[in-house]
Amino acid sequence: MGGFRSLAPWAAIAGFAMLLPFAFNEFWVVIGTRAAIYWVLVAGLNLAVGFAGQLAIGYVALLTLGSYTASILVQRYGLSPYVALVGAATVGAVSGVIVGLPALRLRTFYFAMTTLGFATIVTQVALAWQSVTGGGIGLPGPEMPAPFDSTKGFYAFCMGLAGLCTWMSANIASSRFGRALVALRDAEVAAEATGISKTALLMTVFLFAGATGGVAGGLFATLQSYITPDAFTFDLSVLFFIAILIGGRGSILGPLLGTVILTILPEFAAPLVAWSTFLYAVLLLAIVLAMPGGIAALLDFSNRKPLQSDRAIIPRPELLAELLPNGGGQDDIALRGIVLAFGGVRAIDGLDLTVRPGEVHGLIGPNGSGKTTTLNVICGFNVPEAGEARLGAAPLPAGDSRGRAGMGIARTFQTPRLVGEASVLENVMIGGTISGQGSFVESLLRLPRHGRDEAALTARAMLALRATGLETLAHVRADRLQHSELRFMEIARAAMLAPKFLLLDEPAAGLSPDEIGRLGVLIKAIARQGTGVLLVEHHADLIFDICDQVTVLNLGRELAAGTPAEIRAHKEVVSAYLGG
Ligand code: ADP
Ligand code: MG
Repeated sequence: MGGFRSLAPWAAIAGFAMLLPFAFNEFWVVIGTRAAIYWVLVAGLNLAVGFAGQLAIGYVALLTLGSYTASILVQRYGLSPYVALVGAATVGAVSGVIVGLPALRLRTFYFAMTTLGFATIVTQVALAWQSVTGGGIGLPGPEMPAPFDSTKGFYAFCMGLAGLCTWMSANIASSRFGRALVALRDAEVAAEATGISKTALLMTVFLFAGATGGVAGGLFATLQSYITPDAFTFDLSVLFFIAILIGGRGSILGPLLGTVILTILPEFAAPLVAWSTFLYAVLLLAIVLAMPGGIAALLDFSNRKPLQSDRAIIPRPELLAELLPNGGGQDDIALRGIVLAFGGVRAIDGLDLTVRPGEVHGLIGPNGSGKTTTLNVICGFNVPEAGEARLGAAPLPAGDSRGRAGMGIARTFQTPRLVGEASVLENVMIGGTISGQGSFVESLLRLPRHGRDEAALTARAMLALRATGLETLAHVRADRLQHSELRFMEIARAAMLAPKFLLLDEPAAGLSPDEIGRLGVLIKAIARQGTGVLLVEHHADLIFDICDQVTVLNLGRELAAGTPAEIRAHKEVVSAYLGG
């Protein structure tokens, strides 16, 4: 039923698109064609902008490149328009990667500026390279052969491609790649800790977005029938970008409607065409102020239902045997002589620590004593100045936080890192991203391995949610959860890796006494499966209840280490820290 309801708007749009040529005159068929062409571009761009959160605003450059490539291949080299579209897609894909590359180093506005710069360069080259592009005079666009040479025929062709692009981008959106993109956008550190490769994923998405942009360019040149550099205005770049913003990030339907609205808006306000930039700006402001989630949030009825207010988190540790079947293995995590300073502050000052499989190792100490930093060294986020970290015989390479997931080390964060706009289930599924087998292309085309990956990830994430007591919230947006539920959600996400070691950074902070009790049982049960747990905590009761070993830190050094009983009897610890 949920499937049907989510398909209903798509069926309505497809039905409308099919009826349009019969119900409206040629003028509107051309407008419909234009909307379809723009959407071919926006469908790809949406993955980079709306999903990955990259401010690629100069995307008219891809339309320009595609238009000229297709036109030149047809007019100067006499190739078929279909081959020309493939050529436009290829040039677009390569250019997409070139436009996208700076995103790996530059953030937000700096990246946005590079995309604008690229658009300017492309237009200038089109103007200056007269022998090929015709300069300011331009050149004729490709002409489609029958049956796509008529207005309606070309409309059908563009709609077909628009449908294909919608399907492909929706496939990616609902795959582990789509979830990983959103994770990189909203919780980059957590994404890295689950082993997601930002470089590979972003470049693949820019490649795809470039290809659809190139194809859109080829179609655009055909629709225009004659192209000059001034056809590719800055307004178009703004249109593509704003269509995604008003549509809502992380949605396909929203940006599609946004593209349609922005394409037909100037037609309804024909006298206002000169004002279109101004109109876009007003529309954008209105939307950002009135509905920050865009059209997608407006259409999201399921998340308006109030949640049950007296709900409790009841984990089911007995399910852990199924969730963490392989145990932790034989290897210890060993830190030896770790030193790490931030400027003048020695956050860790010569620390030795051993975390064993199957044990809960408590790490306690006052605020600022270096607990989180220790965890970050194990996870590769912080690079120590001296000392070594090993997992058994294998070194834990400093700075390689992404590689830790593959080595079986998972973690949670002192401040939960999550994708607020994604469901709880999707958030947990992010934890299993690297276990997928299928490639990006297999997901793009919904090939069998994509289906198998999704089924396996969904089943495993539901199991993790049942084990942590969150299964009734699986389909709720994560930003509607209480703080304590987010802590359990992070544990479920980390458990997706079936980790050998689980590092928990103050998981009991913000929990009620009941919840702390259940958390303790859960953590202990995780360790009983063979997983080594490093537990950073302030709640002394929890530490003494469930830990096998405890290390007390002070000013980045070990103040005491031993069993809970030994620590409780340690004079210095008691007077300095436990206040006894
Ligand atoms: P804890 O988790 O035990 O409260 P942390 O490991 O977060 O402590 O911090 C240890 C010390 O290192 C503190 O003095 C803190 O201010 C400092 N510190 C931690 N992270 C950074 C950072 N990124 N930059 C500068 N100083 C930091
Ligand atoms: Mg901390």
